[in-house]
Amino acid sequence: MMKEYNLVVIGSGTAGSIAAAKCKKSGWSVAMIDERPFGGTCALRGCDPKKVLVGITEYMDGVERLKGSGINGDIHINWNNLMNYKKTFTDDFPEMKEKGLKKQGIDTYHGHAAFIDENKIKVNEETLKGNYFLIAAGASPAKLPIEGSEHFTFSDDFLELEELPKDIVFVGGGYISFEFAHIATRAGANVHIIHRGERPLEDFDKDLVDQLVNYSKDIGIQIHLSTEVKKVEKMSNHFIVTGSNGSDKKEFSADLVVHGASRAPNTDSLNLKSANVNVSKKGIEVNDYLQSTSNSRVYAAGDVSDSPGMPLTPVAGMESHLVASNLLNGNNRTYTEQIIPSSVFTLPKLATVGMSEEDAAEKGLDFKVNAIDTTKWFTYKRTNQAVAFVKILIDEENDQIIGAHLLSHEADELINIFATAIQFELSTKDLKKMMFAYPTAASDIGYML
Ligand SMILES: Cc1cc2nc3c(=O)[nH]c(=O)nc-3n(C[C@H](O)[C@H](O)[C@H](O)COP(=O)(O)OP(=O)(O)OC[C@H]3O[C@@H](n4cnc5c(N)ncnc54)[C@H](O)[C@@H]3O)c2cc1C
Repeated sequence: MMKEYNLVVIGSGTAGSIAAAKCKKSGWSVAMIDERPFGGTCALRGCDPKKVLVGITEYMDGVERLKGSGINGDIHINWNNLMNYKKTFTDDFPEMKEKGLKKQGIDTYHGHAAFIDENKIKVNEETLKGNYFLIAAGASPAKLPIEGSEHFTFSDDFLELEELPKDIVFVGGGYISFEFAHIATRAGANVHIIHRGERPLEDFDKDLVDQLVNYSKDIGIQIHLSTEVKKVEKMSNHFIVTGSNGSDKKEFSADLVVHGASRAPNTDSLNLKSANVNVSKKGIEVNDYLQSTSNSRVYAAGDVSDSPGMPLTPVAGMESHLVASNLLNGNNRTYTEQIIPSSVFTLPKLATVGMSEEDAAEKGLDFKVNAIDTTKWFTYKRTNQAVAFVKILIDEENDQIIGAHLLSHEADELINIFATAIQFELSTKDLKKMMFAYPTAASDIGYML
């Protein structure tokens, strides 16, 4: 039997959920399909469970930093307890999520969705016909052309490890590798990060990344740059990872090899050709309305769309709002450039928003850079932070803040104030007029400008 809906959504993550709820609220019939437990990556296998682990290591790191300053005694991370704690956030989530969807009147389908033609989708034995489709299928670790790549463990599995192995190799120098490496090191593992390029964490300020790399080395993480992983071999009870740095061959022994390299949009198995949906390497090709460039019934949002936004949860949310508006009112909202702050949840955290020095120079702007080591400032001295640095870019012509790059334990919260300043084009004078509660990290902002 064929069921008909105003909107069929593939994916129950952030990019699918907002538009589904808004369309349903406006009286549309809506179906949502997911092949994995409902809830998507962020809540079940990404941001949230990761932040639970980061949170605990952060407490431990804080105690280590302040030992002898009023705290004594040894503490350690009990991985098994930590995982059980994490599960209190993730285990019940899919059921709660699905209940919520059903309560709204959204029909839910479990299974793999693939198009049959331009307006029909097959899930298991059922065919769903839609006036419109929202593809919000997310992304997965990219396939790497490495011999033995079948031995990789993925980020999803790392967040489910019942026991933490002793020797871990992370392949790729992106934010997932760095965050997990910091967690695993604090929990007692020997960790290597192997990165092909000269520069890890490429989307972040180079000088601050260098400081983070040095500090990561200080806490015991072994970082190998310009080193390409060629092969992973399974031995009887461990793996050998072979990499090369030019003509130098390097071998690493590991109990676990984690794919922490790039992620690719989930477009391969949707049978998009039969639906006449064009796709690029970066995802589903969309116009400024996030509508497929080749099939006007189809919209795409979040990690799966080839839109200008980064693959981050707030971007998926923003895109889903935009799609809902265009579906319900006809194409009326276009993709406008939004200020997107982001953070690497290492300890200390590295955060960025707005332009880098390279961007500003390329645009020919007349700007100044306030680069300040803040380790001696009260906020950072009080918590004994070994590295704390800010770099604020200010447009000399209009006194507006155009970029902020922060490295400290407070960076993930503080960056949001700079994002607000950039989004609303505040000048340094405006920001200095603000009164922030004292003593907080925000109350230092005036001194950064
Ligand atoms: C380890 C990790 C840490 C992260 N940390 C952060 C962070 O700190 N901050 C941040 O902003 N972002 C973070 N991200 C990125 C963030 O999780 C994603 O940008 C966001 O979840 C994307 O949402 P989405 O709705 O586009 O896709 P998803 O949430 O991935 O949802 C897609 C859903 O579609 C389903 N699906 C796919 N194909 C099919 C099919 N053919 N049929 C049926 N169902 C299908 C999938 O099962 C999945 O549930 C992290 C990601 C990872 C992996």
